[in-house]
Amino acid sequence: MIERVIKGIPAAPGVAIGKVLVLDREDFRVNKRKLDDKSLSKEIKRFRGALLKTKKEILEIKQKISAEMGLEHGEIFSAHILVLEDTMLIDDVIGKIKNEKINAEYIFLEVLKKYIRTFAKLDDEYIRERLSDISDVGKRILRNLLGTTSHALSNLKEEVIVISGDLSPSDTATMHRKNVIGFATDIGGRTSHTAIMAKSLEIPAVVGLETITREVEPGDVIIIDGSNGEVIIRPEKETIKKYESLKLKFKKFESNLTKFKHLPCQTIDGRRVVLAANIELPEEATSAVTHGAEGIGLFRTEYFYMNRKDLPTEEEQFHAYKTVAQKMVSHPVIIRTLDLGGDKFLSQLEIPHEMNPYLGWRAIRFCLARQDVFKVQLRAILRASAYGNLKMMYPMISGVEELIQANQVLESVKEELKKEKISFNKDIEVGAMIEIPSAALTSNILAREVDFFSIGTNDLIQYALAVDRANEKIAYLYEPAHPAVLKLIKTIIDNAHEAGIWVGMCGEMAGDIILTVLLLGLGLDEFSTSPIILPEVKRIIRSMEYFKAKKIAVKALSLSTAKEVENLAKKSLEDLKIKV
Ligand code: PEP
Ligand code: MG
Repeated sequence: MIERVIKGIPAAPGVAIGKVLVLDREDFRVNKRKLDDKSLSKEIKRFRGALLKTKKEILEIKQKISAEMGLEHGEIFSAHILVLEDTMLIDDVIGKIKNEKINAEYIFLEVLKKYIRTFAKLDDEYIRERLSDISDVGKRILRNLLGTTSHALSNLKEEVIVISGDLSPSDTATMHRKNVIGFATDIGGRTSHTAIMAKSLEIPAVVGLETITREVEPGDVIIIDGSNGEVIIRPEKETIKKYESLKLKFKKFESNLTKFKHLPCQTIDGRRVVLAANIELPEEATSAVTHGAEGIGLFRTEYFYMNRKDLPTEEEQFHAYKTVAQKMVSHPVIIRTLDLGGDKFLSQLEIPHEMNPYLGWRAIRFCLARQDVFKVQLRAILRASAYGNLKMMYPMISGVEELIQANQVLESVKEELKKEKISFNKDIEVGAMIEIPSAALTSNILAREVDFFSIGTNDLIQYALAVDRANEKIAYLYEPAHPAVLKLIKTIIDNAHEAGIWVGMCGEMAGDIILTVLLLGLGLDEFSTSPIILPEVKRIIRSMEYFKAKKIAVKALSLSTAKEVENLAKKSLEDLKIKV
C-alpha cells in the first residue's frame, strides 16, 4: 500500500497519528436464513434480547454523558430510547419473523430500511431529523444481533482517529474527552460549526476532504496535520517519524506559549488589546482561563437548544450563564442570544424548510418573531448578570430598526424583572454582532444604539463574497483577506471609534494569525477566538509595534487581491522573525 496525501481544510491545529475508526460506513453483512417452526420463538427471544442490550448500552452512555457534560447533553439519547420503545417497529419485526420464518437480523434490516425510506419522504423537519436517531439505534441493534462489537464513540477502549462524512453534534458531544485523538471529515468549511467545535475540544482536525471516507479502510494508520489541513493515509515509516517529531514540537510550542498567559496582551509601544475566548459549552470556560483569556468574547448559546425535544428552561439557562460568569470571576462574558439557522437547526421549533437557510428566518429575525422563546433567554441572561460581569449581544443584525426592536424587547423584560423584584445588572452592556454587509455599512447608525460591536467574520465574509461558509467546493473563494472584507472591517472599526464604542471580533478571522498584524493595525480593540489559538495571537501582538501595524494596514487597504494582502502580512511577520 502506498502512502497518500489528501489536502483538505485545516479545522483545528496539531498533529495526530493513529488508527482510523470509520464512522459512516458500516456495511453489515446480513445473511438470510430460513427458520423451522421450532426455532421461531427462540429467534423472537433473541431479537428482544438485542433490544434490551441496546437499551442498556444507551442508558449507560446517557448516564456517562450527563455526568461528564451535563444533563442537557445526556438528553440527546432520550430520543434513541424512544425509538427502541416504538411498538409499531417491534411488532412489525416480530410479526414478519413469525410469518416469513426468516432470521431476525434480516427481517430487522428490511423493516429498518422501510422506516427510513418512509420517514425520509415526509415533509416534516422534526421527523426527518429523527432519521439519524433511527439509523443510529438501528445500527446498534443490528450489531447486537450479529454479535459484532460496537464502535460507538463513547465505548472506545483505545485511541482512534475518527473518519466520517460529517459529524453530528451528538457525535461531537460524545467525542469529548474520549479516546478520539483526531478527526477528518468529507464535508465542511473552515468556519463550519464542526470545525469550530474541533478547535474548542482541542482535537487536531481536517475537514472538507471530500473523499476521505472512501479512501481509508478500518485499521489503517493515518496522520492528521490539523495545522496544514493535510491527511496522510498509510504513511511510510519515515513520514511517521517526521510527524512524530512535528507533534512533539507542536506540544512544546504550545506549552511555551501558555507560559506567557499572565502577561498583558500589549504591543511593544503600549497599545493594549483584549484577548477573549469563544466557547460553545459552559465547561469550556476552564480552557479559556488556562489559555490566558481575559474574558469570553462569544458564548454561543445554540447548543442548549439542539438535540432535544423541549426548549431549555429559564432556570437551566440561568444556571449555565451564571456558572460561566462566576468561573470568569470579574472578566467579561458576552452571551450571544440565540442564533439558530444556517447550519444549526433546532427540531423542536418547527422551522420550515428553507431554500436558503443562511439567508432565511434565523437568529434575531427568528427571536423577534418568537418573542416567547427570546424573552425566556433574556430573562435568564439578565438574572445571571447579577452574579458576574455579563454582557450580551444580538446576532445577525441587518439594520437599525431590528436593533431598536430587540432593545425594546430587552427593556420590557427588564421592566418585568423589576416588577418581580428580581435583581439584575440594570446597566448591562449590550452589543450588536456586525456580520451582514448592510450592518457594516450602516454601523455609524447602529453604533448609537449599543455599547459595543463584535464583528462576526464567519458570516460577514460569506455574505460579502457570496460564498457559503460550509461548502468545501468553493472554499478557495472564502478569503478573509479579500480587499472587500478589509474595507468592511475598517468601516466598522472607524464608525465604532467615532461613536466612542469599542469593537471586537469573534469570527474565526480573529484567530487567523497571519492576519493578526492587519487587524491590530486597523484598530481592533478585542480579539476573541478559540482558547487554543489565544497564546499565539498574544505572542504576535507582543512582538509588534502598533505604529508599524497601522502602516501595514494602510498599505493592505491599497492592495487589489487577497493574495497580495496575505503576502504583505506574511512578510511583516517574517520581518519580525515570527514563524507561523
Ligand atoms: C460569525 O459569524 O463570525 C460568528 C462568530 O458567529 P457564528 O460562527 O456562530 O455564525
Ligand atoms: Mg454568525
